[in-house]
Amino acid sequence: MTQFASADESAVAKAQRELEAAGVRTVIGTVVNASGLTLAKSVPLARLKTFHEAGMGAAPVWHVFTIDGGIAFTNTITTVGDMRLRIDIAGLRVLPGGRAWAPASLFEQDGTGSPVCARGLLGDVGGSLEEAGYQALMGHELEFFLVAPDGSALETAPWVPYGATGLLDRSAFLDDLLSALNRAGVPVEQVHAEYGRNQFEFSLPPAAPVQAADAAVLAKIIVGIVARAHGLQASFSPLPFAGTVGNGAHQHLSLHKDGVPLFSGGSGPHGIRAEGGAAIGGIIAGLPDIQGFLTGSVLSGSRLAPGTWSGAYLCWGLENREASVRFLNEGQSNPHGANVEVKIVDPSANVYLASAAILALALNGIRGGLRLPAEIPGDPGRLSDDERQRANVRLLANSPTAIIDTLDTSRLARGLLGDAVVDATVAVRRYEQQISADLPPDELAERFRLAWSI
Ligand code: GLU
Ligand code: MG
Repeated sequence: MTQFASADESAVAKAQRELEAAGVRTVIGTVVNASGLTLAKSVPLARLKTFHEAGMGAAPVWHVFTIDGGIAFTNTITTVGDMRLRIDIAGLRVLPGGRAWAPASLFEQDGTGSPVCARGLLGDVGGSLEEAGYQALMGHELEFFLVAPDGSALETAPWVPYGATGLLDRSAFLDDLLSALNRAGVPVEQVHAEYGRNQFEFSLPPAAPVQAADAAVLAKIIVGIVARAHGLQASFSPLPFAGTVGNGAHQHLSLHKDGVPLFSGGSGPHGIRAEGGAAIGGIIAGLPDIQGFLTGSVLSGSRLAPGTWSGAYLCWGLENREASVRFLNEGQSNPHGANVEVKIVDPSANVYLASAAILALALNGIRGGLRLPAEIPGDPGRLSDDERQRANVRLLANSPTAIIDTLDTSRLARGLLGDAVVDATVAVRRYEQQISADLPPDELAERFRLAWSI
């Protein structure tokens, strides 16, 4: 595990001076656990250096706090022991209300990274890619439903999917949100009213994987702050309301080698180079194994319905929104260059872990020289069963039990990401399944509508 790189004395002192000048009194450091919950410690600004160097205490059960406030103990994660939550000074950002935020990683008391720390793991996977000569950029999309503070649906006028109406109806909230994001250094690419009633989406620009995931966490926190200021709350549940579209948390990925993009300029379909094709091949081949990291919660499976643009079919295709891996071509309409979008990820996932799993599969595909599978150009839902079988395209699992059983028994997932994160993820998700058994879909959606809200 990587040791936390210590910023030098002057960097911490400089940050403290700047934060003081910005009126900051409190610093919040966050981590995301196996349930996809954002956990935090906060300190007075004067303790910035200690938060960075020694860190604050965190019990090992932080990894396995569950969405109902319970704990999914494992054989190794018990009430005994302590970890250190240490903030990354480079990630410090000013929040509204005299607060600052920084991403944190979890360390053992001897200073080694915790094997269950998802942020540390993503750093390690990124490091392996770099060692192999590749650089990755990732970009996140955030979808959420605006709801009342108690989670109930808002009364609204007729909703127009992707309409200007929703943007105007919620313009006070959206204007404040964009300003707050901008002030915190999170440049938003675009925002729109989504298909679901009172559902919105905004997207973040590509960045190095850890920084991109940090930005997604920060953005979610800012959504929570601004929603509260407007007497609202934001639901980041995969399926806030049963029987309709859910929230995705799509992750875009591009890969480069020595500055050369792997998804364009080559001789494969749409210019995909051989190594880019192998990366996509690796993602498609391993997606069922790591689905538990991407769509593992008890509400994730019901979002993955065909026809909801959640990428329920295991395949890839150019601009194909029903494919779990949508390919975006280079060109004038795509200033960020060619990239792939893993659509199945939802916001109940640990964003760091989901990125780590996707990148690990891509690298595994490159190392194994995997071939790019045949492209599925249209909506697989329009094919007959026979046609789908011939095209080798099938629906991904949507049963929470099946998704987690596959992760638990996956040698691929355990080999690529380690037993510790697999066991923690399996523990919290099986716990969710136990407490939800027998709940009808609408009650399940209602009960956990705010579970992943910040
Ligand atoms: N809400 C859809 C999902 O659950 C995504 C819609 C879109 O393509 O933006 O993934
Ligand atoms: Mg969307």
